Amino acid sequence: MTKVLLVDDEGPFVDALSRRLAKREMDVVGALSGPEALQKLQEDHRIEVVILDVKMPGMDGIQTLKAIKAEHPLVEVIMLTGHATVETAIDGMKLGALDYLMKPCDIDVLVAKVQEAASKKRKHEDKIAEARAQSIALRRGD
Ligand SMILES: [Mg+2]
Repeated sequence: MTKVLLVDDEGPFVDALSRRLAKREMDVVGALSGPEALQKLQEDHRIEVVILDVKMPGMDGIQTLKAIKAEHPLVEVIMLTGHATVETAIDGMKLGALDYLMKPCDIDVLVAKVQEAASKKRKHEDKIAEARAQSIALRRGD
């Protein structure tokens, strides 16, 4: 089951979307701010994908994205944006977000993106594990 962190400052939106994602076989954790999102990621290393609102008071989506990528570089991030902040969401892709979606987003499209992101993360991790095993074998002279 894919573990997802949904970050948005609107509580009812987080609740509603979490329920819809849970129905699609996703294990969803919610956060209402950037700092809360970072705390959840620190506490739960099974989180694979973050769905991140661009516009939040205080620490905004871009600041949160930068902190996530600095502390958890393998975690994949999908930005969620309204019409007014599309440019910011695109900037987010330059900063390491995998993709962005417009609100209100189609649940099937979102689920497909989350699955794509989780599979990318798993492949990336496998590659790192393989490279590490190879490097250990080289040092041993196997
Ligand atoms: Mg917002």
